[in-house]
Amino acid sequence: MMASAILVLIAAVLVLLQYRGRRSADPGAGMPRELRNATIAYSEKLFETMTPFHLVARVDRVYRIGNMHYLLELKTRVRHSIYPNDIIELSAQRLAITASTDLQVSGTGYVATQVDGERRFHRVNLLSGDQLVALYQRRRAILDGTIEPACNDGYALCAKCSYRAECEPGARAVRHRLHQASGRPGHSRSQG
Ligand code: SF4
Repeated sequence: MMASAILVLIAAVLVLLQYRGRRSADPGAGMPRELRNATIAYSEKLFETMTPFHLVARVDRVYRIGNMHYLLELKTRVRHSIYPNDIIELSAQRLAITASTDLQVSGTGYVATQVDGERRFHRVNLLSGDQLVALYQRRRAILDGTIEPACNDGYALCAKCSYRAECEPGARAVRHRLHQASGRPGHSRSQG
């Protein structure tokens, strides 16, 4: 009884490994249906514009369907997660292309996460040019010291951020979280 259970388990593992092997061998596996018949227009290419601000962006892949272009960013990660940075990155690539060429680039982009040989595709809505300009101006103001940075709600980014030593709101958020974790009363956290 025990032996047959082990054989069934081994067979299940082998089927799973074969399935994963087929997925990783096929670079198009899991690709969104709308991109399956697209052609690759650009790969690993730099685009640069001076307007609306100086921006240099390297694209991983640009797919073309008719006159429309779709951006795809490849990420090797420990889990299939995507982050706001991914969307900002793709949006900056879109702005760099549309401001420096007459190409049409879709407001829908894709992040492909690669985890242990398995690739998944995530469809994302990109930021508009105006939203990127607003982000750029905010970044300039933070670097100029005109405004304080606001901490991210999760505090995890602040905990790992290399600017924390010079960023009082980030340092405050981490101190507050450490006080909470230790069970001691902490200072209330104010948003920057
Ligand atoms: S430490 Fe400051 S700069 Fe770094 S993520 Fe936190 S708020 Fe942003």
